[in-house]
Amino acid sequence: MRIAVVGAGIVGALVARELCRYEAEVHLFERAPDVGWGVTKANSGIVHGGFHDRPGTLRARFCAPGSALFEELARELDFAFLRTGAWVLALSRVEVSVLEGLREQGEENGVPGLEILPREEVLAREPHVNPEVVAGLWAPTVGVTEPWQVAIAAVENAVANGLFLHLAQEVTGLEVSGGRVQAVVTPQGRYPVEAVINAAGLYADRIAEMVGLTEPRLFPRRGEYVLLDKAASGLVHSVLFPAPVGDSKGILVLPTVDGGVLLGPNAQDLPEGAREANETTGEGLEEVVAGAKRLVPELPLHQAIKTFAGLRPESPQQDFVLGPTQVKGFYQAAAMRSPGLTAAPQIARWLAHEVIAPELGLTRKAQFNPVRQGIPHPAELPPGEWEALIREDPSWGRVVCFCNRVTEGEILEAVRRGARSLDGVKFRTRAGFGRCQGGVCTDKILKILARELGREPEDVHLRGPGSPVVVGKVRP
Ligand SMILES: Cc1cc2nc3c(=O)[nH]c(=O)nc-3n(C[C@H](O)[C@H](O)[C@H](O)COP(=O)(O)OP(=O)(O)OC[C@H]3O[C@@H](n4cnc5c(N)ncnc54)[C@H](O)[C@@H]3O)c2cc1C
Repeated sequence: MRIAVVGAGIVGALVARELCRYEAEVHLFERAPDVGWGVTKANSGIVHGGFHDRPGTLRARFCAPGSALFEELARELDFAFLRTGAWVLALSRVEVSVLEGLREQGEENGVPGLEILPREEVLAREPHVNPEVVAGLWAPTVGVTEPWQVAIAAVENAVANGLFLHLAQEVTGLEVSGGRVQAVVTPQGRYPVEAVINAAGLYADRIAEMVGLTEPRLFPRRGEYVLLDKAASGLVHSVLFPAPVGDSKGILVLPTVDGGVLLGPNAQDLPEGAREANETTGEGLEEVVAGAKRLVPELPLHQAIKTFAGLRPESPQQDFVLGPTQVKGFYQAAAMRSPGLTAAPQIARWLAHEVIAPELGLTRKAQFNPVRQGIPHPAELPPGEWEALIREDPSWGRVVCFCNRVTEGEILEAVRRGARSLDGVKFRTRAGFGRCQGGVCTDKILKILARELGREPEDVHLRGPGSPVVVGKVRP
């Protein structure tokens, strides 16, 4: 039995991992040169509570149970996750009634621990919040993570359990005959399969079209961000939401798992074809700063180290498209707008164990190891353990990225685990993710990559072919 998953974002990665628990040959196809470089790479990284979603939607059904799985998943796969909790802030009496509506909606969706607290309590716990705050809805089950790390960890664990990973291999066709999916076609080959799971993010509509389906219909909705340096750490301790207007959660201020502060996102609908338009705009960033200042008026904007944008795969029905279809063996995990990363673990379990395994008659493997060790980060280890690593291999003592104190040992380990580019190293180790944004360490990482991959430095890329870092010959 051969099963193909299309797309190695957080959704495809977790679905593939769950399927690896069964006696089946699972193949994961990703057109990018690495894992987690689609929508999963640029978003708020919030593990939502589930109170923002209208009851009856698939978002509401999968968000709270997905959120509840994150401790277990983070323990098994060894990625950073903080259950920070969140406030939805009411800045007027009218907004307090919005909080009451959200609390009721959350309770209907099974979100535990929601309570509306007075301004004194909000300001005691978050002293930098707008002093005009009237009340706050406290949601203890909200958290933050790095979604690309979840995808990388899930794929590493799945590979250890038998997954066939095909990077830089775009699915260009799907063969269907007799109403059943028969094969996956890529420029590199044809793979006969019994089932395909469509987890292709912004391009899931194109994959669905390959089997003749008209759902989902997708268009990109851009969200822009400003990232503040770790020097701003302590500004906020939990995720701050404004009282929402319509279906948008609004512009937020939140702590990141590595101590920074993130502002954003705004929401701008783009034409259907603009699926790579992840540039930031002057107006967009102004909107982000104005929205963030409503929640935290004294923002240390001089600590801004990066701006970026992500694209949501939005659909007219504003909901996920999940499960079996009229084409036998073709399953959807599509239209994954927010809270897609939160819902992903529960969607993966449901699809694999309650839909695909029973339909295909899959049996469980005798052996499946759910545990994956992350790359050690010596700067976070007790000094004795760091020294022990250095005694084993001195590269663990050579700091390459000073902002995030990333050592050569970590970079070598990232290469061993599949990093082939600067971004491959960055998203596995956080080297180049800090205050100087790679200003100091890029050339050192470039040389390490060149040495380890047996390439000339000019043949080492930011992401992959077509994204050169240096042009011309690099002097030794
Ligand atoms: C601005 C913004 C903020 C968000 N904030 C949050 C949040 O705080 N919390 C939350 O829960 N959710 C949030 N989301 C939503 C969340 O990020 C997404 O739901 C989730 O990342 C989607 O993951 P995915 O695996 O479906 O898609 P992707 O990560 O895009 O993965 C799909 C993969 O498929 C690949 N692919 C596409 N076509 C092909 C092909 N033909 N062949 C092979 N591979 C292909 C792509 O390269 C890509 O890597 C946010 C999204 C955005 C944009």
